[in-house]
Formats: sequence, C-alpha cells, structure tokens
Amino acid sequence: MTGDRMEARIHSPSYFSSASPEAIQKGLQAWEAALAQFDKAAHILEASGHPLKRGLIQFLRRPKRELIVHFPVQMDDGSIRMFTGYRVHHNAVRGPTKGGIRYHPDVTLEEVRALAMWMTWKCALMNIPYGGAKGGVAVDPAQLSPRELERLTRRYATEISLLMHPGGDIPAPDVGTNPQIMAWIMDTYSMHTGFTQPAVVTGKPVEVGGTMGRVEATGRGVMMVAAEALKVNRIPIEQATIAIQGFGNVGSHAALTACLMGAKVVAVSDFRGGVYNPKGLDIPRLMEHDRRNRTVVGFPEGEPISNAELLTLKVDVLIPAALENQITLENAPYIQARILAEGANGPTAPEADEILIEKGVFIIPDILCNAGGVITSYFEWVQDLQSFFWAEEEINSRMERILKRAFYEVLAKEEGLRPYGLRRGDYRTAAQALAIGRVAQATLIRGIYP
Ligand code: NAD
Repeated sequence: MTGDRMEARIHSPSYFSSASPEAIQKGLQAWEAALAQFDKAAHILEASGHPLKRGLIQFLRRPKRELIVHFPVQMDDGSIRMFTGYRVHHNAVRGPTKGGIRYHPDVTLEEVRALAMWMTWKCALMNIPYGGAKGGVAVDPAQLSPRELERLTRRYATEISLLMHPGGDIPAPDVGTNPQIMAWIMDTYSMHTGFTQPAVVTGKPVEVGGTMGRVEATGRGVMMVAAEALKVNRIPIEQATIAIQGFGNVGSHAALTACLMGAKVVAVSDFRGGVYNPKGLDIPRLMEHDRRNRTVVGFPEGEPISNAELLTLKVDVLIPAALENQITLENAPYIQARILAEGANGPTAPEADEILIEKGVFIIPDILCNAGGVITSYFEWVQDLQSFFWAEEEINSRMERILKRAFYEVLAKEEGLRPYGLRRGDYRTAAQALAIGRVAQATLIRGIYP
C-alpha cells in the first residue's frame, strides 16, 4: 500500500471494514460530489434572493446521525467472520428517514453518507413526507451461501435496529439486496418487538406486506421520466434508441419498460461486460439469459461490448443504472447520447456535468429520474400502516402523476433560475435547489430546538 493510500485508509471511519483504499477513495469522491452539488444549489438560491441562513447551510450539509457497526457472522464451515455495516440518517425534518441498504464490497461510510444526502433531496423533490437515510454492509453477497446471507442480514438488522422504526427510519433495497433480504429484516425486527411490523421496511415480497409494482418501480419510473424528456426533445419514443449500463433491478426493468413503450434497447451491460445489437435486443429473452447465467455476457443475439464503449454509443437515451461516478472528466467529452437518464445514484461526476451541459445533453438528474422506487416504497409503507392494499394500476398511475409533476416543476425551476446565473440545461442544480428550498423551509417552520 502506498503512503497516500495508507493515509486514506487510516483516516477513514471505514478503517476496520474490508473496504479497499480504492473503495474509500470512491466513497470520498461520492461525498465530495454530493457536497459540490449542494453548494452549487445553495449558491443559486442565494443569487435568486432566497439565501439559506449561514447556520442552516451547515445544518443541511451534515448528516444528522451515523451508526457504524462491526459484527460477527458464523459461516457455514463454522468459522467466524467480521463485517462492517452502516446506517446514516442525513435529515429527518420532513418526516421519517427513508433509504435503501446496499451490500457491496466497496461500501464505506462516506459513500453511504452521500447516498443518504441524495435521499433527503429526492424525497423533498417528490414532496413525499420523508427525510433521507441510507445503509450498507461491506460484503459481496454473491460470495455467501443463502444461510450465510440470512445470518448476516439478521445480525445487521439487529445492530441497526437502534435506528429503525416504522415511524422513524424505514430501509428498502439497493444494490446487492432484494425482497427476500427485506423480508428477513422485517422478520428480525418483528421478532425483537414481539409482533409483526411490516411497515419497518419496504421492498418486501407481496406475501408479507409488500406492494404490487415495487420490484419494477424504479426502472419503470426511469422510463416514465425519460419518456417525458423524449417528448420535450421532440423525439418519438418509437424511434428512440437506448443504452443501459447495469442490468440489475433498475436496469433490467428500465429495459423492459422501454420495450413495452416501443423504444429500441440497443445495448445493456453488467459488471462483467455488455451486449450490443443495433436492431434492438429482445429484452425478455435477455432477462431469461441473465437469470440462467447471472450475466448478460454471452447472450447470442448480439455482439459483445465493453462498459466503456456502451457509455459512448450514439443513442437517444443513455441510462447509467449501476454505481456512482461512471461518467467522468475522462469519458464525458465522448458521450453522444442526447438524453442522460440517471437510473443510478450519483453516476455523473460534477466536472462531467459541466461538459455534458456544454454539449447540450439533456440530463435527468438521479433525484428526479430514479425516484419511482422511493415513491412506491412510500405507497407500500402507507398500505402497511393501514393494512389496506391497492391494485397495481393505482400504484403505477399515482407514481406517474408524482414523477411527471416533479419533472415539469424542475423544468420550470431551471427556467426561473436562469436570470440568476443558472446555466441553461442545468436541471440537476434546479432540482436540488427546489428540494433544498423545501427542506430549509420545513426546518424554519419547525424551528431550532430548544
Ligand atoms: P442491483 O444490484 O440490482 O444491480 C446493479 C447492476 O449494476 C448489476 O447488473 C451489476 O452487474 C451492475 N454493475 C455493477 N458494477 C458495474 C460496473 N462497474 N459496470 C457496469 N455494471 C455494473 O442494483 P440496483 O438496485 O439495480 O441499483 C442500481 C443503481 O440504482 C444504484 O445506483 C442504486 O443506488 C440506484 N437505485 C436503486 C433503486 C432500487 O429501487 N433498487 C432505487 C433508486 C436508485
């Protein structure tokens, strides 16, 4: 380990975790990106005559509370392995905190903190009554047996149950987690409290209080918003070509929805590589291939393509649906997509943003584009609290209404902020300004306790 990398490791709160120095650096990058975006939005709010009080800026820039847990898990061979997990509440002014749980080897406190902050802005932008949170464990779930995964999940849920509550903090799935894992979290919490508490976590299977449409919600929502962006850019959806990085929950359902809407998905990828077919990929068959092989690589009805190549394809819509910091200073000049629909959280580095805006790429920022998941999680929570369940059409139409309203609110905000120095097409800053303004206002109305 070189001196600098060692420094990064020792000074990181993730020191005891298995995260590599590279992961720690990536986490720091994500947190710095979140802060840079915040500062830009705060600056434009000030320029437009709506300054945030100095102390308020400091309050909104910081997380409310951060929990780090180091815990043992008994492996199938009888050995004991230590894991590190996190749960961060960024802000709880507008309601209980909401945010997913990520299982990935590169999870660090800094990454979780950035994701928690983005959740605060996302919930405020959608105007749903939540604050922002995120959690995660530094683990590669694919390396664990199902029993090990269950034991890890139940122990992590127990460790963070200090912070979880149906009225206080409600986790959900994210990268590397799924409905089964949410069911174990719900069961563990319920066992501790002595009665079944479905509303403590969302993204559960429907058999145990999950909602119709949650599995598909994020990807479906991405395409609902992308469809509006295509309309605004006068591109008929039937003629639109789409490339998607990441073929997990978000990427695969965005692909399927795109097909159902009549668009042509020409390329998709996962962490192993990608597949390209200019005539359009048969997504249901590709999903079947992915289910059997756990990768899109090797799909016979297309050519291999690398992740780097996929990002620079000449398509109408590029959907990054994997991890943070994929579009950077290095590859942004080569992006040829007309619309960037951010399925992932934080896929675009702030410096890349400037280049894309300059090039005229229509960026649908993450907190707007992938909010279908948290909206439907909100519906699941409401249904659980009322023990009264809705039909899927109702879920989807309510979700679409909220997403479209937010989309046009962001467009209007961008226009409204232009006279104060906002660059034309900087929808990210417009979205953040709208969201931050809402959280700031709620804070002032509540008052600073005591
Ligand atoms: P997932 O674990 O289901 O899928 C992730 C996909 O990304 C996999 O196909 C994986 O192979 C791929 N991937 C990982 N590293 C990659 C790389 N370097 N290059 C290309 N592909 C890579 O995760 P998900 O739930 O689909 O989440 C994807 C993104 O969407 C994340 O940024 C997440 O925070 C965000 N998001 C998820 C939800 C949700 O409801 N699941 C909601 C909002 C936002």
